[in-house]
Amino acid sequence: MKKLGALAILFAMVFIVSCKDEKKTENEGETTEVVVEETTEKPKHWGYDGESSPEHWAEIEKESTCGGSHQSPIDIVTANVVSQASGLKASDIHYDASTLIHDVTNNGHSIQYNFEAKDNYVDFKGKRYDLVQFHFHAASEHSINGMHYPLVVHLVHVSSDKEYVVLAIMVEEGKESKTFDFIETYLPVQAGETKTIGQPHSFSKYILGNFEHYYYKGSLTTPPCTEGVNWFIFTEPLSISAAQAKAIADLMPRYNYRPTQPLNDRKVYLSK
Ligand SMILES: [Zn+2]
Repeated sequence: MKKLGALAILFAMVFIVSCKDEKKTENEGETTEVVVEETTEKPKHWGYDGESSPEHWAEIEKESTCGGSHQSPIDIVTANVVSQASGLKASDIHYDASTLIHDVTNNGHSIQYNFEAKDNYVDFKGKRYDLVQFHFHAASEHSINGMHYPLVVHLVHVSSDKEYVVLAIMVEEGKESKTFDFIETYLPVQAGETKTIGQPHSFSKYILGNFEHYYYKGSLTTPPCTEGVNWFIFTEPLSISAAQAKAIADLMPRYNYRPTQPLNDRKVYLSK
């Protein structure tokens, strides 16, 4: 069970911001002639397929930062990483032994577990980041030397001034995981469905035994692709059974991961 460690879960509530249908209001009472330019039909929602796929996000989501130069995910080239402490230590992870998970939702992009109580948080460089949700991507979004894991868990933490810490735990197929037993308990949830949980679960024991991680500054990997996100990608994967992986993956859109983005002028650090 050493792999349970995986910090169990972060992520960006933000990551999975639900898309809103935009409706135009029209001034029907106008007597003056107004030329209304029709915009061309565009997908209402971002997604992972066809015209809504990641390469179109910057145009679909005009207010987003998806076209920025410090985006995530990235491919981590281990030969280029710099060994340097990230400033995040195992003792900075404060996950309550018994914490309430408010609900699990299938938002059409991922399966996401939401927290209401602020029982779980990380301290990073003197600031508190509360765990608000965790979700999954299949395959993993970040890759290591070009290799993706079949699944990843993103634990999203947000500070009071809306900055982010996301912990990424790679998942590989192997032995069954007790962590995922709990996760499976509330599945399935179909797209658009939310199930209230309200049950206490223990997270503290799921924190990675091996705290080695990559660190860099990137972005949310879904629109609005906000930059300045502190990414921590743990090197030790969590192991789950093939059946467990399938239970999660079957409920999500196929290939719900954003392709890797250019590193540009950034550096990736390896912290032990
Ligand atoms: Zn994510």
